Amino acid sequence: MGLQENIKQVRAAIDEAARAAGRDPTSVTLLAATKTQSSNTIRAAIAAGITVCGENRVQELTAHLADDAYQGAELHFIGHLQTNKVKYVVGKVALIHSVSSEKLLQAIAAQADKLGLVQDILLEINLAGEASKSGFAPGEALAAARLAACLDGVRLRGLMCIPPAAHHPGENFHHFMTLRQLAVDIRQEMVDNNRDMDMLSMGMSGDYKDAVAAGSTCVRVGSALFGPRPPVLPEG
Ligand SMILES: *Cc1c(COP(=O)(O)O)cnc(C)c1O
Repeated sequence: MGLQENIKQVRAAIDEAARAAGRDPTSVTLLAATKTQSSNTIRAAIAAGITVCGENRVQELTAHLADDAYQGAELHFIGHLQTNKVKYVVGKVALIHSVSSEKLLQAIAAQADKLGLVQDILLEINLAGEASKSGFAPGEALAAARLAACLDGVRLRGLMCIPPAAHHPGENFHHFMTLRQLAVDIRQEMVDNNRDMDMLSMGMSGDYKDAVAAGSTCVRVGSALFGPRPPVLPEG
């Protein structure tokens, strides 16, 4: 079937983009964005070599977990998260990519405290100031990182972005370079250089090669692996 071949091709393209940029290909994780996929498709992707799955919606995450669909892979949360749903996510995923407000950051830390664990997180940055997207403005990111550093329940691992959809190669390269520089700047301002802050989650099906060229350590790829998705309704 196509899935196995798609995974091979995307992985090969990541490796090539990394080498072209003088980077070690193993420094880039291919995360499969599994939204709208069935438990069986997720299992097939893991059987075909996918090591990290990223889920967008709490409802799908919960259903697939009940199904044991992610067995053999690491699970991340990459979608918009409402504060009243953190209890379904904290401690169930290795990394939350999409921490988009201080209120959410505090809710995640509180839930982690309650469970007696430390939740790894990324701060989502709204680079282009798009009203339709969540995330911190670049100018708010340092304050959010400092807040995260004060909260025992979270460990800040880096930054994530979802730039506008790219229609041409190269189009989002400058956004990815901006995110990378922002991470460097924040690290420098933090106590101890925050050495845990080593992740840049950036790049999707349309622009992951540019993201790798700009330093991405995790590309989140959906349709290039699984094919086009049917339109999804907003989560209620
Ligand atoms: C759906 C999604 C992706 C993958 O998108 P594709 O364009 O299908 O590769 C990546 N990141 C996030 C946050 C997503 O919601």
